[in-house]
Amino acid sequence: MDDGILARLAGALISGEIRVIDLSQPLDDGTAVIQLPPEFGKSKPFLLEEISKYDSRGPAWYWNNISCGEHTGTHFDAPIHWVTGKDYPENATDTIPVQKFLAPACVVDVSQEASASSDFLLTREHIERWEKKHGRIEAGSWVLMRTDWSKRKSAEAFLNIKVDGSHVPGPHPELVPFLAKERQVIGWGSEGVGTDAGQAFLFDPPFPCHTIMHGNNRFGLASLMNLDQLPAKGALLITPPLKIVNGSGSPCRVLALVSH
Ligand code: MN
Repeated sequence: MDDGILARLAGALISGEIRVIDLSQPLDDGTAVIQLPPEFGKSKPFLLEEISKYDSRGPAWYWNNISCGEHTGTHFDAPIHWVTGKDYPENATDTIPVQKFLAPACVVDVSQEASASSDFLLTREHIERWEKKHGRIEAGSWVLMRTDWSKRKSAEAFLNIKVDGSHVPGPHPELVPFLAKERQVIGWGSEGVGTDAGQAFLFDPPFPCHTIMHGNNRFGLASLMNLDQLPAKGALLITPPLKIVNGSGSPCRVLALVSH
């Protein structure tokens, strides 16, 4: 047998030496969708309409029509999503080089901090402490913030909207340029409905993860789950969005390869 790298990978998948972890939320009409103030356009919730189910509409087949916003459920954010990333070449779901849809992940566990405060912000100091323990974040890695926020099952608890807006943990505005420029990460992923903190509309700049990550031609992953099943370092993420022409993002079945 060929002992090349792909043959060894295939063998490890078959033997179970490498496990595949699903980091995606189930998609149905209860999937939480980001809520913006009423003056802005709205993203539609996920909708599934049955076309036929082995009945008069189609005696031997079952299928559905689906519709939703691009940023629904577990999803990929392309640089073109934000005004700061709009002029990069190859910045949309159909044009991003596909090689970029496989990349290693660094997982920063701040589940305790996030359970103590829904406004918790991950700082550069947290990352530097993480790097002392696990080594430097390598260029081209994802940084995933594990908060266990995805364990909030109702949309109400997940969105956590109060009179002054949403309260969900996210990256500190000073962390994002550090990750984008000094660590050259491929993108940022979080468990909340979007990549930024709930209160990020108040930050300077507003929505720093969108503004700075996409402004540096980097990506985002939102509404991730099962990050508690990943090692701090060593998982390989598979994140291809749908090939929507000029798409700003898409629901995504995010998978992680983890070695035992
Ligand atoms: Mn998004």
